[in-house]
Amino acid sequence: MRAFAWSRPVVPFARLPARPPARPPARPSARLSAHSNAAATTTTTTTTATSTSRRTLITVQKQQKTQYHSYHDPDGRRFRSAKPLFTTAGLRRVLKSPSTHAVAVLAVAGAAGFYFANLETVPVSGRTRFNVYSRESVRATSEMQFKRVLYDLERQGARILPAGHPQTQRVARVMQKLIPFSGMADDEHWEVFVVDAPGTANAMVLPGGKVFVFSGILPLARNDSGLATVLGHEIAHNLADHVGERMSQSIGTNIILYTLIGLFGGFGLGVIFTHWLGSKALETAFENPMSRKQESEADYIGLMMMAEACYDPNEAAKFWARMDRASKEEVPEWMSTHPSNENRIKKIQEWLPKAVEKREASDCRTTTAFADLFKRALQNGIIMYD
Ligand SMILES: [Zn+2]
Repeated sequence: MRAFAWSRPVVPFARLPARPPARPPARPSARLSAHSNAAATTTTTTTTATSTSRRTLITVQKQQKTQYHSYHDPDGRRFRSAKPLFTTAGLRRVLKSPSTHAVAVLAVAGAAGFYFANLETVPVSGRTRFNVYSRESVRATSEMQFKRVLYDLERQGARILPAGHPQTQRVARVMQKLIPFSGMADDEHWEVFVVDAPGTANAMVLPGGKVFVFSGILPLARNDSGLATVLGHEIAHNLADHVGERMSQSIGTNIILYTLIGLFGGFGLGVIFTHWLGSKALETAFENPMSRKQESEADYIGLMMMAEACYDPNEAAKFWARMDRASKEEVPEWMSTHPSNENRIKKIQEWLPKAVEKREASDCRTTTAFADLFKRALQNGIIMYD
């Protein structure tokens, strides 16, 4: 393809010099006129060229190129003398210009200011993180997700157990004990949905207080403390506003994508792209696995929460061990978004003394003491009355 090498590099956008005064069109050369009937037919040219020297081929093709521009530029002179719009030298000049530096400094300072102005501390864990979304805006997004979950369940023909069903009552009972320690007792409109799906081990708590438990996770939770581990973990994701954090994390990507929409989207395509982006944002915020950091944080907050609510924190590690075993046989759905590993169980065991301390500091000491006393009394055949 070196045959197409021109004396001047071709640039897609070319600034043409002023049109020279009108003059009669130049007569094509004799050699070119021999092929003028099929000037653009490469086959003919090539066939001829193969019989001539390589030099002739280059000349013919150069002249053909010139002919493409002959409508406005009969002799091709304007095209040959065209200057590129963007040159390396020009770009270098822009980069070196003090005003470019000022804009870059302002942009970086603005981004840094925006970042630091939106730093906040996560409750319970005390971690500092970047979050631009208020609880209200996350809740509004979550409303859409709630409708989508209900729609999906209906489409799959899944049955939501009635409020009076023992399984719903069990989940509601554990939730009732956890909510006062969630720090969101008054903020959310708590609602419990137990989906009759023995083959699905899954649970989630959407921002806004919508609790979904798929009945397949109940045997794995085994007892109320195990269930409190699952629910405490899910509530903790809300308390720590992990959805808002994830949406904030994707803000950089969104800026780039929206800029692209602005530049190339036009109207129709822009709308489709924005719609696609919206569903992607939902997917990122709700469906993809939380980051390891967020998972570990939810484990910690959930453990403290269930201990304060008088559940046995020792059951948390046991629950995760059961999930781990179950995942080796068949991956429970919850595990696809909550990867279990030895490290998670090890961490929970490290936090256990603190959780036990929390439990002892909580009001349940009297309840436990009474329960122990009652058990002993029964063993001794003594019936107690208050
Ligand atoms: Zn989680």
